[in-house]
Amino acid sequence: MEKRDYYTVLGVSKNASKEDLKSAYRKLALQYHPDRNKEPDSEEKFKELSEAYAVLSDDEKRKQYDLFGHAGIGQRYSQEDIFRGANFNDIFRDLGFGFGGFNSIFDVFFGGQRPRTYGPQRGANLQYDLEITLEEVASGVEKAITLPRNETCDVCHGSGARPGTKPQTCSHCQGTGRVEHSRSTGFAQFIQVATCNQCRGTGKIIESPCNTCSGTGLVSRERRIEVNIPAGVENGSRLRLSGWGEAGVKGGPPGDLYVVVHVKPHEVFQRNNSDLLTEVPIGFSQAALGAEIEVPTIEGKAKLTIPSGTQTHTVFRLRGKGLPRVRGFGRGNELVRVIVKTPTKLSSNQRQLLMDLATEMKETVKKKRGLFG
Ligand SMILES: [Zn+2]
Ligand SMILES: [Zn+2]
Repeated sequence: MEKRDYYTVLGVSKNASKEDLKSAYRKLALQYHPDRNKEPDSEEKFKELSEAYAVLSDDEKRKQYDLFGHAGIGQRYSQEDIFRGANFNDIFRDLGFGFGGFNSIFDVFFGGQRPRTYGPQRGANLQYDLEITLEEVASGVEKAITLPRNETCDVCHGSGARPGTKPQTCSHCQGTGRVEHSRSTGFAQFIQVATCNQCRGTGKIIESPCNTCSGTGLVSRERRIEVNIPAGVENGSRLRLSGWGEAGVKGGPPGDLYVVVHVKPHEVFQRNNSDLLTEVPIGFSQAALGAEIEVPTIEGKAKLTIPSGTQTHTVFRLRGKGLPRVRGFGRGNELVRVIVKTPTKLSSNQRQLLMDLATEMKETVKKKRGLFG
């Protein structure tokens, strides 16, 4: 089934306030809560609108959804992450539903079958696309990049509790993060272990959340990072900066930052691994008589000797004037393809000299420019 737009699901407009969302969700949750509504599709409906509310009631997730739609949410958050941080307990308390059994959102979605605690979690990996020039590939370069990322809140040091307060041990689960439900069916008794819905498996209750991070322990920051790009890097390389991704949750390790290097096309050089290729025009007389010419290299100019009798499109090699090799030693070569240019505009003197040459070479040429030339 096609996933429906979250705003449509909740029946609110795109610019609905948090209060609008809450009251829309409250009304619909009351209608479709599986404890009340025994229609077969009520559970699906309830899941759909709870997911919509979980995303839209969270500023970060709502922004992501507004920008990238369902795909943006799916890429960034697991099903459990979508619900993490959403505050359903208040709503259900207000609605007069108890806790336990089917009443917790987590039980609805995760069936209480995978008891897990939300202990330390590794931070997310980040990717940054960086464009550099071929000159920078040749020399290697240090680049300062700026990117937004989640960092540990330094007001509460990631605990999520307002300074001076501490997260309290959850009384519902005695800090274990999980609760047991027992159910008797005839002679059998089933014991189901589910994530505690009061503390969402953390075992801790934050009574006064930190103002700076709203109790998440994370804050979004623009961070400037110096990235060392090694000489000779290939276009499309992914450089991994271990530990420079987003901060972990509850003491978990940070994620990694991947810098993807894009090398800008160069006006003069084409690249082939560590070799550089360029084309240089030479004159007809230079090709015939030989010459010493100046050619561009990635680090300035160099001299190239053209032997007499050089044909057009001959390739000369400038040893070691290519790019450094990332793995291994030394540098590639520069390959210079000379293109013999035929003159197009001739002075009468030049014209006469070429006519004389043609006669000398026994070449037949057009004698006159044309009738009116
Ligand atoms: Zn904080
Ligand atoms: Zn608990």
